[in-house]
Amino acid sequence: MIREARVTTTCSYCGVGCTLEVHTLGDRISRVTSPLDAPANRGNLCVKGRFGFDYVTSPDRLTQPLIRRGGVLEPATWAEALDLVARRLAETRAQYGPQAIAGFSSAKCTNEENYLFQKFMRTVIGTHNVDHCSRLCHASSVTAVNMAIGSTAMSNSIAELRSDIDCLLVTGSNTTENHPVIALEMKAAVARGAKLILVEPREIELTRFATVWLRQRPGTDVAVFNGMAHVIIRDGLWHPEFVADLTEGFEELAEAVLPFTPEVVEEISGVPAADLEQAARLYATSAAAGIFWGMGVSQHRTGTDASLTLCNLALLCGQIGRPGTGLNPLRGQNNVQGAGDMGCLPNLMPGYLPAAAEDTLQRFDRLWGVHLPRHKGLTNTEVINAAHAGQVRALYVMGENPALTDPNLNHARPALAGLDFLVVQDIFLNETAELAHVVLPAWSWAEKEGTFTNTERRVQRVRPVLPPPGAARCDWAILSDLAGRLGQPWHYDSAEAIFAEIRQAVPAYAGMTYARIEAGGLQWPCPTADHPGTRYLFAGGFPRGRGKLHPVAYLDPAELPDAQFPLVLTTGRVLYHWHGGVLSRRAEGLNAICPAPAVEVHPDDAAALGVSSGQPVRVVSRRGEVQVPALVTGRSRPGTVFMNFHFAEAAVNLLTNDALDPYAKIPEYKVCAVRVEKL
Ligand code: SF4
Repeated sequence: MIREARVTTTCSYCGVGCTLEVHTLGDRISRVTSPLDAPANRGNLCVKGRFGFDYVTSPDRLTQPLIRRGGVLEPATWAEALDLVARRLAETRAQYGPQAIAGFSSAKCTNEENYLFQKFMRTVIGTHNVDHCSRLCHASSVTAVNMAIGSTAMSNSIAELRSDIDCLLVTGSNTTENHPVIALEMKAAVARGAKLILVEPREIELTRFATVWLRQRPGTDVAVFNGMAHVIIRDGLWHPEFVADLTEGFEELAEAVLPFTPEVVEEISGVPAADLEQAARLYATSAAAGIFWGMGVSQHRTGTDASLTLCNLALLCGQIGRPGTGLNPLRGQNNVQGAGDMGCLPNLMPGYLPAAAEDTLQRFDRLWGVHLPRHKGLTNTEVINAAHAGQVRALYVMGENPALTDPNLNHARPALAGLDFLVVQDIFLNETAELAHVVLPAWSWAEKEGTFTNTERRVQRVRPVLPPPGAARCDWAILSDLAGRLGQPWHYDSAEAIFAEIRQAVPAYAGMTYARIEAGGLQWPCPTADHPGTRYLFAGGFPRGRGKLHPVAYLDPAELPDAQFPLVLTTGRVLYHWHGGVLSRRAEGLNAICPAPAVEVHPDDAAALGVSSGQPVRVVSRRGEVQVPALVTGRSRPGTVFMNFHFAEAAVNLLTNDALDPYAKIPEYKVCAVRVEKL
C-alpha cells in the first residue's frame, strides 16, 4: 500500500516564506496546501507554491558526484570527489594564497548551510571572498538602508498591510508576479481604503489598483524621488519634530533637491508634474505610509542612490518607526534575507557586524577558535573580474548559477571556464555545473532540516518531506566533510546543532530555538529566550543613532539609446517561473503554462520594425545577442523592450550591462541599449 503523509514546511521559491503543507503519496508530492493561520500567507499560495514542486523528483536530479576526466564529467565516489576538492583547494591556497579562492553561497539553502559556508571560507580557506545572490538583487537597497538608518532588512511585517498601512508607495516591483501573496495583501489594503502610489515604468497588474501611477523612464528613479522630496519640503509637508529629533542632514538634502522641480523631473523622467505633486502630498500626509521596492530600483548603477532617495522620503515625513510605516525592500529568493543574516557577504560577518572592524574579528576569532583573515574580501561581481585577471584561481559555488545569472555573460562565462578549479554543489547540472571540474550532488529543500528567514525577518522551519535521491548529501554535511579533510574537524550532528551556534554568532537570533520557532516562526530581532520577536522596526530609534538624510545627485543610466542601439531593454520575472528557470522549468504545470521566452515590443516599435507577435527577432546589445519571438504589447512605453530572465536558450544576460553601482557593486541589469532586428 502506498503511504500517505503530510509535512508542514516553508516554500522554497520566493521571500514571502509561505507555510506549506506538503502531502505525499509514497515518494511523490501529491498536492500542496497551506493552513489558514500561516503567519505570512494566511493559507494563500501562488501557482509556484501550489503546483511548482515536481522538480524535486525530476529524473534530472544529480544523484552521484561527478569528476571531469579527459574533458568529460564522469561518475565518481564521494571519497574521490571530496579528496580531489580538498587537494585542489589546498594546492591553490599553497601556491597563490587564500585570496585566490572564492565562494558563492546560496539564498536557496538554509540558514544553517549558509552559516557553515561562510565559516568554511573564512576559517578553513582563510578568505572573506564569500558572497551570495543578494549582490545581484538587493545589495544596493541593503547598503542604502544601512547608510541611512543602520539596518539591513524590511521594517514592516506582511501583517501590517492587513491593518496598519493607509498608504503604500510601491516602486520597481511587479509584486503580483514576484511576491504574489504580498500582492494579494496590497490589493486587499486598497480594497479597505489604503492609497497606492505606484512608481513603475511598465504597466502591471497593480496599475489597476493605483491611486496615482508615476510611469517613469527606466533609470530615472533618483529624479522622481528627489522631486517628491522637493515638493514635500517646498510645501512644508515634512515632519519638523521628527526631522529635528531623529535625523541629520536636512539642510544638505533641502539644497540638493531644490533643482528637482516637478517640471524638471517631468523632463528627465516623463512623469507629469501634476502626478508627482499628487504622489508627494499623498505620501507625506498619510497617517501611516510604507515604502515597498524591488529590483526595478536596486538593479542599477545608481541603485544605492535611488534607495537612499526612498530612505530620505521616509525620514523627512516621519513615516518610519510606527506600525504601518517603514522601508521595505522586498527580498527575492526564499532565504536571501537569511544568507545575509548569516554573513555570506565579504564585508559583513554574521549578524551584519563589519568584517573590517578589529573588535568584530576578535569576537569571531574567539567564537570559532581561529585567527580570521584581516584582508578585504571580494564581491561576486568582483570575483569575475579577478578571475579574468588570474587573481582568483578556484571557485566554490553552492546552489548558484552565475553562468546564467551574471550580467554580460560573454564576459562572465570565460572567467568561469578559465578557472584552474571550479567546484559546484547543486541539485541539477546547471550551466555553471557544466563548466565544473567537480560536481557534488546536494539535497533539495524538500529533503532537509533547517530554517529559512523570509522577507519580513521571520525565521521558519524547513522539514524533510521526501527521501533524498541516490547518493546526494545535505549541504552542511558536505561542508563538514571538506572542513575535516582540510584540517579542521567540525562536529555538527544536526542542523539544530548548527542553529545553536548561530544563536551565539547572530545577536538578533539569540533568543530563538527550534522549539520556539516550531509553530509560525519568530521575527528578528529576538535577542533573548523570552523575547516575542519584532513585528516592526525602529519603535525605539535607529541602530545608527540619528537617521541620515543623504543628498543624491541624478545620473543617467550607464548606457542610453543611440542611433546604433535605439531601444532600452529592461528585464524582470514572470509569475510562472523562477530566476534561471532551473527549478520551475522542471515543474511540468508551470512549464506548460509558460513554455517559451519572448521579448515584449511596443506596437509602435513593432510597426516600425514590421514584426508581429510570435515572429522571431534578434535582440542585440553591445555585449551579445539572442534570438527570441516577439510579443507585441503596450505594457512598456514606446522605445522600451522587456524580457524575462528565465530561459537559458534566450539568455537575456548575454545582453545586460555589467556596469556596477560604486557602493554595492550591483550590476545595471535593468537598463541597457539594444536594437531589435527582424529575422
Ligand atoms: Fe512560495 Fe512565494 Fe508563491 Fe508564497 S508567494 S507560494 S513563498 S513562491
